[in-house]
Amino acid sequence: MCNICSRFIDHDEDHYEDYCIDCYMLLETAKRALAVARRVGVRRYGPSTWKDVSLREHVEHAQAHLINFRAGSIDEDHLAHAICRLVMTEANRCN
Ligand SMILES: [Zn+2]
Repeated sequence: MCNICSRFIDHDEDHYEDYCIDCYMLLETAKRALAVARRVGVRRYGPSTWKDVSLREHVEHAQAHLINFRAGSIDEDHLAHAICRLVMTEANRCN
């Protein structure tokens, strides 16, 4: 059974122990986006300051990155940064 979506894992078709192929792909994509954004963010802000940032500020930063992404800006990976900010929002909201 997939640890994320609880779907039955067909081990002949899905070659991952804990996740179905779809959840595995989404998880790896999320991890890649976090890695891209964290490499920049840790240099820019330090490793743990994100925990002290308000939910509102994280969401506003995510929105700014999404606006830049939709406008076609390629000065940085705006979608990765938006994903990272939203994950940080969720982490702070849940902890
Ligand atoms: Zn799944």
